[in-house]
Amino acid sequence: MAAIDIGRLVSAVAETIASHADELTALDQAIGDGDHGLNMKRGFDAVHGELAAISAKPLPDAMKAIGTRLVMTVGGASGPLFGTFFLTLGKELPPEPDRAALAAAFARAVDAVAARGKSQAGQKTMLDVLFPVAAALSAGKSADEIVGVADEAAAATKPMKAIRGRASFLGDRSVGHVDPGARSSALIIRTVANVLGATG
Ligand code: ADP
Ligand code: MG
Repeated sequence: MAAIDIGRLVSAVAETIASHADELTALDQAIGDGDHGLNMKRGFDAVHGELAAISAKPLPDAMKAIGTRLVMTVGGASGPLFGTFFLTLGKELPPEPDRAALAAAFARAVDAVAARGKSQAGQKTMLDVLFPVAAALSAGKSADEIVGVADEAAAATKPMKAIRGRASFLGDRSVGHVDPGARSSALIIRTVANVLGATG
């Protein structure tokens, strides 16, 4: 795997989130409080604002800096969860990971999100994307296949009933809408996979 270009990754993810903020907000208006798009855009804009400092760091420290910034700026339920994800990646990743190390660190990060959220697969959350992607990474799937897995997994949250997070307050009325955090997770994974797939 070629060296990971952190600056390119940060720019690409910030751009993806900004251009999908309205869509994420609309999803959260349907089953939450309508702030997910703005929360995510605020967070990744803040990360992008530190682009030079972050991309000068070794990969683990860059991930920790991203996680810290997300915890401070995203807010809501998703801020601490995405923050935990990147902070754990920072703890688990070596400076120059191969595919196996990347898959192992990703799996640990997903487990950390589940522990932090007291949540598991099947509850209509970001985990319903993150767990299948962790499995696809461990199985050695290609970047394109992983994008497909993430998109399908996000779409598959539509018929689910929310058991965790604000959407769970709606009970059965949460059925029939894609989970906002699942969608934002799939967007981030698509962007990262495209960047790594093109350079790796
Ligand atoms: P809030 O719900 O506080 O307004 P956001 O709208 O930013 O926060 O994020 C909502 C998303 O966070 C949900 O769509 C879901 O994917 C995710 N989420 C919420 N609670 C949990 C949890 N306990 N475990 C995993 N993900 C969760
Ligand atoms: Mg919300």
